[in-house]
Amino acid sequence: MDWGQPKVYAVRHKDEETRAASRSGGIFTAVSDWVLSNGGVVYGCVLTEDFSAVHIRADSADDRNSMRGSKYIQSRLGDIFGSVKIDLLEKRTVLFTGTSCQIAGLKGFLGRNYENLICVDIICHGVPSIRVWRAYLEWQEARSGALVNCVDFRNKRDFGWHEHIETLTFDNGKKVSGIIFKELFYGHMILRPSCYVCPFKSTTHPGDITIGDYWGIEKAAPEFDDNNGVSLVLINNGVGEYVFNAIKSEVNWKETRMEDSMQMPLREPFPKPVGRERFWDDFSNKGFGYIARKYGGNGIITKLRRRLGKIKRTLGKR
Ligand SMILES: Cc1cc2nc3c(=O)[nH]c(=O)nc-3n(C[C@H](O)[C@H](O)[C@H](O)COP(=O)(O)OP(=O)(O)OC[C@H]3O[C@@H](n4cnc5c(N)ncnc54)[C@H](O)[C@@H]3O)c2cc1C
Ligand code: SF4
Repeated sequence: MDWGQPKVYAVRHKDEETRAASRSGGIFTAVSDWVLSNGGVVYGCVLTEDFSAVHIRADSADDRNSMRGSKYIQSRLGDIFGSVKIDLLEKRTVLFTGTSCQIAGLKGFLGRNYENLICVDIICHGVPSIRVWRAYLEWQEARSGALVNCVDFRNKRDFGWHEHIETLTFDNGKKVSGIIFKELFYGHMILRPSCYVCPFKSTTHPGDITIGDYWGIEKAAPEFDDNNGVSLVLINNGVGEYVFNAIKSEVNWKETRMEDSMQMPLREPFPKPVGRERFWDDFSNKGFGYIARKYGGNGIITKLRRRLGKIKRTLGKR
Protein backbone atom coordinates (compact mmCIF):
# COMPACT_ATOMS: atom_id res chain seq x y z
CA MET A 1 0.00 0.00 0.00
CA ASP A 2 1.39 3.44 -0.95
CA TRP A 3 1.03 6.42 1.37
CA GLY A 4 0.42 9.98 0.26
CA GLN A 5 3.56 11.41 1.86
CA PRO A 6 6.55 9.44 3.10
CA LYS A 7 7.58 9.24 6.76
CA VAL A 8 10.93 10.96 7.17
CA TYR A 9 13.86 9.90 9.35
CA ALA A 10 17.44 10.91 10.12
CA VAL A 11 19.50 7.72 10.45
CA ARG A 12 23.04 6.83 11.51
CA HIS A 13 24.37 3.28 11.66
CA LYS A 14 25.55 2.45 15.19
CA ASP A 15 28.76 0.86 13.88
CA GLU A 16 31.23 3.67 13.17
CA GLU A 17 33.33 1.63 10.71
CA THR A 18 30.20 0.89 8.67
CA ARG A 19 29.32 4.57 8.60
CA ALA A 20 32.86 5.51 7.54
CA ALA A 21 32.66 3.02 4.64
CA SER A 22 29.25 4.30 3.50
CA ARG A 23 28.35 7.43 1.59
CA SER A 24 26.03 8.88 4.21
CA GLY A 25 24.76 7.27 7.42
CA GLY A 26 25.02 3.60 6.41
CA ILE A 27 21.29 2.83 6.03
CA PHE A 28 22.01 0.63 2.97
CA THR A 29 24.21 -1.67 5.08
CA ALA A 30 21.59 -1.92 7.83
CA VAL A 31 18.85 -2.92 5.38
CA SER A 32 21.04 -5.27 3.34
CA ASP A 33 22.43 -6.96 6.50
CA TRP A 34 18.87 -7.74 7.52
CA VAL A 35 18.08 -9.18 4.07
CA LEU A 36 21.27 -11.30 4.02
CA SER A 37 20.66 -12.59 7.55
CA ASN A 38 17.25 -13.80 6.37
CA GLY A 39 18.78 -15.79 3.51
CA GLY A 40 18.04 -13.12 0.92
CA VAL A 41 20.07 -11.62 -1.91
CA VAL A 42 21.09 -8.03 -2.56
CA TYR A 43 21.39 -6.22 -5.90
CA GLY A 44 23.36 -3.00 -6.17
CA CYS A 45 26.05 -1.04 -7.93
CA VAL A 46 29.80 -1.74 -7.74
CA LEU A 47 32.84 -0.22 -9.40
CA THR A 48 34.70 -2.67 -11.68
CA GLU A 49 38.49 -2.94 -12.05
CA ASP A 50 38.32 -0.61 -15.06
CA PHE A 51 36.21 1.90 -13.04
CA SER A 52 32.88 1.31 -14.74
CA ALA A 53 29.75 1.12 -12.59
CA VAL A 54 27.71 -2.09 -12.93
CA HIS A 55 24.94 -3.78 -11.00
CA ILE A 56 25.72 -7.15 -9.46
CA ARG A 57 24.03 -9.74 -7.24
CA ALA A 58 25.43 -10.43 -3.76
CA ASP A 59 24.58 -13.16 -1.29
CA SER A 60 27.42 -12.43 1.14
CA ALA A 61 28.41 -9.41 3.22
CA ASP A 62 31.80 -9.30 1.44
CA ASP A 63 30.23 -8.87 -2.01
CA ARG A 64 27.65 -6.46 -0.62
CA ASN A 65 30.40 -4.31 0.90
CA SER A 66 31.68 -3.45 -2.57
CA MET A 67 28.29 -1.82 -3.26
CA ARG A 68 28.93 0.76 -0.57
CA GLY A 69 29.91 4.25 -1.66
CA SER A 70 28.31 6.41 -4.35
CA LYS A 71 29.63 6.01 -7.88
CA TYR A 72 28.67 9.21 -9.65
CA ILE A 73 28.29 7.63 -13.10
CA GLN A 74 25.55 5.62 -14.76
CA SER A 75 25.46 2.00 -13.63
CA ARG A 76 25.14 -0.67 -16.34
CA LEU A 77 22.31 -3.11 -15.61
CA GLY A 78 23.12 -5.74 -18.28
CA ASP A 79 20.70 -8.66 -17.82
CA ILE A 80 20.36 -8.19 -14.06
CA PHE A 81 16.54 -7.92 -14.14
CA GLY A 82 16.37 -11.52 -15.41
CA SER A 83 18.47 -12.64 -12.45
CA VAL A 84 16.17 -10.75 -10.03
CA LYS A 85 13.16 -12.54 -11.50
CA ILE A 86 14.76 -15.96 -11.05
CA ASP A 87 15.48 -15.19 -7.38
CA LEU A 88 11.94 -13.93 -6.85
CA LEU A 89 10.43 -17.04 -8.42
CA GLU A 90 12.69 -19.19 -6.21
CA LYS A 91 11.12 -17.35 -3.24
CA ARG A 92 14.34 -15.68 -2.08
CA THR A 93 13.93 -12.30 -0.40
CA VAL A 94 15.38 -9.80 -2.88
CA LEU A 95 16.66 -6.32 -2.08
CA PHE A 96 17.15 -4.24 -5.23
CA THR A 97 18.89 -0.86 -4.85
CA GLY A 98 19.51 1.77 -7.49
CA THR A 99 18.30 5.04 -8.97
CA SER A 100 14.53 5.64 -9.12
CA CYS A 101 14.49 5.08 -12.89
CA GLN A 102 16.21 1.71 -12.38
CA ILE A 103 13.59 0.71 -9.80
CA ALA A 104 10.79 1.82 -12.15
CA GLY A 105 12.48 -0.14 -14.97
CA LEU A 106 12.65 -3.28 -12.81
CA LYS A 107 8.98 -3.00 -11.86
CA GLY A 108 8.04 -2.55 -15.53
CA PHE A 109 10.11 -5.62 -16.44
CA LEU A 110 8.56 -7.78 -13.71
CA GLY A 111 5.03 -6.70 -14.64
CA ARG A 112 3.51 -7.66 -11.28
CA ASN A 113 4.09 -7.32 -7.54
CA TYR A 114 6.18 -9.85 -5.62
CA GLU A 115 5.81 -9.94 -1.86
CA ASN A 116 9.45 -11.06 -1.49
CA LEU A 117 10.81 -7.95 -3.30
CA ILE A 118 12.11 -4.89 -1.42
CA CYS A 119 13.14 -1.87 -3.48
CA VAL A 120 15.35 0.93 -2.18
CA ASP A 121 15.96 3.91 -4.44
CA ILE A 122 18.53 6.65 -3.93
CA ILE A 123 17.74 10.33 -4.08
CA CYS A 124 19.38 11.13 -7.40
CA HIS A 125 21.09 14.30 -8.60
CA GLY A 126 21.44 12.73 -12.06
CA VAL A 127 24.10 10.53 -13.63
CA PRO A 128 27.09 11.86 -15.58
CA SER A 129 28.22 10.54 -18.95
CA ILE A 130 30.64 7.60 -18.92
CA ARG A 131 32.54 9.15 -21.87
CA VAL A 132 33.47 12.18 -19.80
CA TRP A 133 34.41 9.99 -16.82
CA ARG A 134 36.74 7.90 -19.05
CA ALA A 135 38.34 11.02 -20.56
CA TYR A 136 38.88 12.43 -17.06
CA LEU A 137 40.64 9.25 -15.87
CA GLU A 138 42.84 9.11 -18.98
CA TRP A 139 43.80 12.76 -18.54
CA GLN A 140 44.69 12.23 -14.88
CA GLU A 141 46.73 9.12 -15.79
CA ALA A 142 48.67 11.05 -18.43
CA ARG A 143 49.41 13.84 -15.93
CA SER A 144 50.53 11.39 -13.23
CA GLY A 145 52.45 9.08 -15.55
CA ALA A 146 50.76 6.07 -13.94
CA LEU A 147 47.53 4.11 -14.04
CA VAL A 148 44.71 4.83 -11.60
CA ASN A 149 44.27 1.94 -9.17
CA CYS A 150 41.66 3.34 -6.80
CA VAL A 151 38.82 5.86 -7.04
CA ASP A 152 36.85 7.57 -4.30
CA PHE A 153 34.16 9.76 -5.89
CA ARG A 154 33.67 11.63 -2.64
CA ASN A 155 36.41 11.13 -0.09
CA LYS A 156 34.63 11.26 3.26
CA ARG A 157 37.43 9.75 5.35
CA ASP A 158 39.95 12.53 4.59
CA PHE A 159 37.66 15.52 4.04
CA GLY A 160 34.45 14.82 5.96
CA TRP A 161 30.89 14.14 4.86
CA HIS A 162 29.94 17.73 4.00
CA GLU A 163 32.86 18.26 1.59
CA HIS A 164 32.78 16.92 -1.95
CA ILE A 165 36.37 16.12 -2.95
CA GLU A 166 37.30 13.20 -5.21
CA THR A 167 40.49 11.21 -4.71
CA LEU A 168 42.38 9.12 -7.26
CA THR A 169 45.24 6.84 -6.25
CA PHE A 170 47.83 5.76 -8.83
CA ASP A 171 50.07 2.72 -9.37
CA ASN A 172 53.14 4.80 -8.51
CA GLY A 173 51.71 5.61 -5.06
CA LYS A 174 50.69 9.14 -6.03
CA LYS A 175 47.35 10.39 -4.67
CA VAL A 176 45.43 13.26 -6.26
CA SER A 177 42.46 14.93 -4.57
CA GLY A 178 40.42 17.61 -6.29
CA ILE A 179 37.05 18.78 -7.54
CA ILE A 180 37.26 18.66 -11.33
CA PHE A 181 34.80 15.81 -11.87
CA LYS A 182 32.53 17.18 -9.14
CA GLU A 183 32.47 20.59 -10.87
CA LEU A 184 31.54 18.90 -14.15
CA PHE A 185 28.84 16.87 -12.36
CA TYR A 186 27.33 19.89 -10.59
CA GLY A 187 27.65 22.04 -13.73
CA HIS A 188 25.04 19.60 -15.18
CA MET A 189 26.47 19.73 -18.74
CA ILE A 190 27.39 16.04 -18.51
CA LEU A 191 24.15 14.58 -17.11
CA ARG A 192 22.25 12.02 -19.20
CA PRO A 193 19.54 13.76 -21.31
CA SER A 194 16.79 11.85 -19.44
CA CYS A 195 17.92 13.41 -16.13
CA TYR A 196 16.73 16.89 -17.22
CA VAL A 197 13.17 15.55 -17.48
CA CYS A 198 13.34 12.99 -14.68
CA PRO A 199 9.81 12.12 -13.47
CA PHE A 200 11.08 11.08 -10.02
CA LYS A 201 12.15 14.50 -8.79
CA SER A 202 9.55 14.79 -6.05
CA THR A 203 8.83 13.37 -2.62
CA THR A 204 7.05 10.43 -4.29
CA HIS A 205 9.35 7.58 -5.29
CA PRO A 206 9.02 4.07 -6.73
CA GLY A 207 11.10 2.47 -3.94
CA ASP A 208 9.61 1.09 -0.71
CA ILE A 209 12.36 3.10 0.98
CA THR A 210 14.23 6.08 -0.47
CA ILE A 211 17.68 6.98 0.86
CA GLY A 212 19.99 9.96 0.48
CA ASP A 213 22.39 12.31 2.18
CA TYR A 214 20.60 14.28 4.87
CA TRP A 215 21.23 17.79 3.55
CA GLY A 216 19.54 20.18 5.97
CA ILE A 217 20.42 18.05 9.01
CA GLU A 218 21.62 21.24 10.78
CA LYS A 219 17.96 22.25 10.96
CA ALA A 220 16.20 18.88 11.08
CA ALA A 221 18.31 17.10 13.74
CA PRO A 222 21.55 19.02 14.48
CA GLU A 223 22.53 16.58 17.23
CA PHE A 224 23.01 13.89 14.52
CA ASP A 225 25.62 15.83 12.54
CA ASP A 226 29.24 14.97 13.38
CA ASN A 227 30.41 15.33 9.75
CA ASN A 228 30.73 11.54 9.42
CA GLY A 229 27.42 11.12 7.59
CA VAL A 230 23.68 11.03 8.20
CA SER A 231 21.19 9.27 5.93
CA LEU A 232 17.89 10.81 4.95
CA VAL A 233 15.40 7.94 4.91
CA LEU A 234 11.93 8.19 3.37
CA ILE A 235 9.56 5.36 4.23
CA ASN A 236 7.15 5.22 1.32
CA ASN A 237 4.78 2.37 2.15
CA GLY A 238 3.98 -0.55 4.46
CA VAL A 239 6.80 -2.75 3.10
CA GLY A 240 9.27 0.04 3.82
CA GLU A 241 7.90 0.46 7.33
CA TYR A 242 8.12 -3.28 8.06
CA VAL A 243 11.79 -3.37 6.99
CA PHE A 244 12.64 -0.14 8.82
CA ASN A 245 11.09 -1.47 12.06
CA ALA A 246 13.21 -4.62 11.68
CA ILE A 247 16.50 -2.70 11.46
CA LYS A 248 15.82 0.07 13.98
CA SER A 249 17.95 -1.62 16.66
CA GLU A 250 21.05 -1.36 14.40
CA VAL A 251 20.80 2.40 13.87
CA ASN A 252 20.26 5.65 15.72
CA TRP A 253 17.17 7.29 14.25
CA LYS A 254 14.88 10.24 14.70
CA GLU A 255 11.61 11.06 12.94
CA THR A 256 11.94 14.46 11.26
CA ARG A 257 9.87 16.77 9.08
CA MET A 258 9.79 16.76 5.29
CA GLU A 259 9.82 20.57 5.18
CA ASP A 260 13.22 20.56 6.95
CA SER A 261 14.60 17.92 4.60
CA MET A 262 13.96 19.30 1.15
CA GLN A 263 16.70 19.41 -1.48
CA MET A 264 16.45 20.15 -5.20
CA PRO A 265 16.17 16.47 -6.34
CA LEU A 266 13.04 16.16 -4.13
CA ARG A 267 11.46 19.13 -5.94
CA GLU A 268 12.29 19.21 -9.66
CA PRO A 269 14.95 18.15 -12.17
CA PHE A 270 17.99 20.35 -12.75
CA PRO A 271 17.32 22.24 -15.97
CA LYS A 272 19.35 21.46 -19.08
CA PRO A 273 22.04 24.15 -18.94
CA VAL A 274 22.36 26.80 -21.60
CA GLY A 275 25.56 26.02 -23.48
CA ARG A 276 25.30 22.21 -23.21
CA GLU A 277 25.71 21.82 -26.99
CA ARG A 278 28.80 24.04 -26.79
CA PHE A 279 30.20 21.83 -24.03
CA TRP A 280 29.83 18.69 -26.12
CA ASP A 281 31.33 20.45 -29.10
CA ASP A 282 34.33 21.44 -26.94
CA PHE A 283 34.52 17.91 -25.54
CA SER A 284 34.68 16.39 -29.02
CA ASN A 285 37.15 18.90 -30.45
CA LYS A 286 39.43 20.07 -27.64
CA GLY A 287 41.53 18.13 -25.17
CA PHE A 288 40.34 17.28 -21.66
CA GLY A 289 42.79 19.86 -20.26
CA TYR A 290 40.66 22.53 -21.95
CA ILE A 291 37.46 21.01 -20.49
CA ALA A 292 39.01 20.90 -17.00
CA ARG A 293 39.99 24.57 -17.23
CA LYS A 294 36.78 25.87 -18.78
CA TYR A 295 34.17 23.72 -17.05
CA GLY A 296 35.98 21.87 -14.24
CA GLY A 297 37.21 24.79 -12.14
CA ASN A 298 40.83 24.06 -13.12
CA GLY A 299 41.52 27.42 -14.81
CA ILE A 300 43.94 29.88 -13.24
CA ILE A 301 41.26 32.56 -12.58
CA THR A 302 38.92 30.10 -10.84
CA LYS A 303 41.81 28.73 -8.78
CA LEU A 304 42.85 32.25 -7.73
CA ARG A 305 39.25 33.12 -6.83
CA ARG A 306 38.99 29.96 -4.70
CA ARG A 307 42.27 30.73 -2.93
CA LEU A 308 41.15 34.30 -2.28
CA GLY A 309 37.83 33.08 -0.86
CA LYS A 310 39.72 30.73 1.47
CA ILE A 311 41.98 33.56 2.70
CA LYS A 312 38.94 35.82 3.28
CA ARG A 313 37.19 33.07 5.27
CA THR A 314 40.32 32.48 7.39
CA LEU A 315 40.73 36.22 8.08
CA GLY A 316 37.01 36.49 8.89
CA LYS A 317 37.37 33.84 11.59
CA ARG A 318 40.09 35.80 13.41
C1 LIG B 1 24.59 9.10 -9.05
C2 LIG B 1 24.15 9.41 -7.66
C3 LIG B 1 23.57 10.64 -7.36
C4 LIG B 1 23.15 10.92 -6.05
N1 LIG B 1 22.56 12.13 -5.80
C5 LIG B 1 22.14 12.41 -4.55
C6 LIG B 1 21.50 13.65 -4.26
O1 LIG B 1 21.37 14.51 -5.12
N2 LIG B 1 21.05 13.86 -3.00
C7 LIG B 1 21.18 12.92 -2.01
O2 LIG B 1 20.75 13.17 -0.89
N3 LIG B 1 21.75 11.73 -2.25
C8 LIG B 1 22.24 11.45 -3.49
N4 LIG B 1 22.82 10.23 -3.75
C9 LIG B 1 22.64 9.15 -2.74
C10 LIG B 1 23.67 9.09 -1.68
O3 LIG B 1 24.92 9.45 -2.20
C11 LIG B 1 23.78 7.69 -1.02
O4 LIG B 1 23.59 6.68 -1.99
C12 LIG B 1 22.75 7.49 0.02
O5 LIG B 1 22.91 8.54 0.94
C13 LIG B 1 22.87 6.15 0.72
O6 LIG B 1 23.73 6.27 1.75
P1 LIG B 1 24.38 5.01 2.52
O7 LIG B 1 25.23 5.59 3.59
O8 LIG B 1 23.36 4.02 2.91
O9 LIG B 1 25.23 4.59 1.32
P2 LIG B 1 26.10 3.40 0.81
O10 LIG B 1 26.23 2.25 1.72
O11 LIG B 1 27.30 4.08 0.32
O12 LIG B 1 25.11 2.88 -0.35
C14 LIG B 1 25.39 2.83 -1.64
C15 LIG B 1 24.10 2.51 -2.36
O13 LIG B 1 24.08 3.29 -3.53
C16 LIG B 1 23.91 2.46 -4.65
N5 LIG B 1 24.67 3.07 -5.74
C17 LIG B 1 25.92 3.56 -5.71
N6 LIG B 1 26.27 4.08 -6.89
C18 LIG B 1 25.20 3.92 -7.70
C19 LIG B 1 24.95 4.21 -9.07
N7 LIG B 1 25.85 4.80 -9.86
N8 LIG B 1 23.74 3.87 -9.58
C20 LIG B 1 22.81 3.25 -8.82
N9 LIG B 1 23.00 2.95 -7.51
C21 LIG B 1 24.17 3.27 -6.97
C22 LIG B 1 24.43 1.08 -4.25
O14 LIG B 1 23.80 0.08 -4.98
C23 LIG B 1 24.01 1.06 -2.78
O15 LIG B 1 22.68 0.65 -2.66
C24 LIG B 1 23.29 9.94 -5.03
C25 LIG B 1 23.91 8.73 -5.33
C26 LIG B 1 24.34 8.45 -6.63
C27 LIG B 1 24.97 7.13 -6.91
S1 SF4 C 1 18.01 11.83 -12.38
FE1 SF4 C 1 16.22 10.53 -12.74
S2 SF4 C 1 16.51 9.78 -14.83
FE2 SF4 C 1 18.51 10.52 -14.14
S3 SF4 C 1 19.50 8.69 -13.29
FE3 SF4 C 1 18.51 9.78 -11.60
S4 SF4 C 1 16.52 8.77 -11.39
FE4 SF4 C 1 17.33 8.24 -13.41
